[in-house]
Amino acid sequence: MEMIILGLRSDVLSEQLPWYCLSCFTCLDRCPQGGDVGETMFAIRNLAVRQGNIPEGILAQAKNLFENGRVVTPSRMALAQREKYGLGREPVVDVEIVQKILRRTSFDRLINKGS
Ligand code: SF4
Repeated sequence: MEMIILGLRSDVLSEQLPWYCLSCFTCLDRCPQGGDVGETMFAIRNLAVRQGNIPEGILAQAKNLFENGRVVTPSRMALAQREKYGLGREPVVDVEIVQKILRRTSFDRLINKGS
């Protein structure tokens, strides 16, 4: 945030810095002023994504969400664990509905910009 205040916005948005935040919200718990750095980091990341700054791993998850309606595809082992613990089959995802929502929010254009 200090870099942005100092006029280095384009440097911040083109680097990996916005992606270092883990969204743990420890800053919110500890800040005596109630400063919500995590939420600010979300905003900075959104700006970075609009410029095509999306780390490879995040981009892969985003594409998976668009193509399969899930961020992570469950492994065979995870599916077997579901059965073992009586959780039943994996929930069915209506991919068309997910894609409709993602298109309406321009998510599809953002992930194409990052590739
Ligand atoms: S900025 Fe806040 S939410 Fe992000 S990693 Fe640091 S303490 Fe956690």
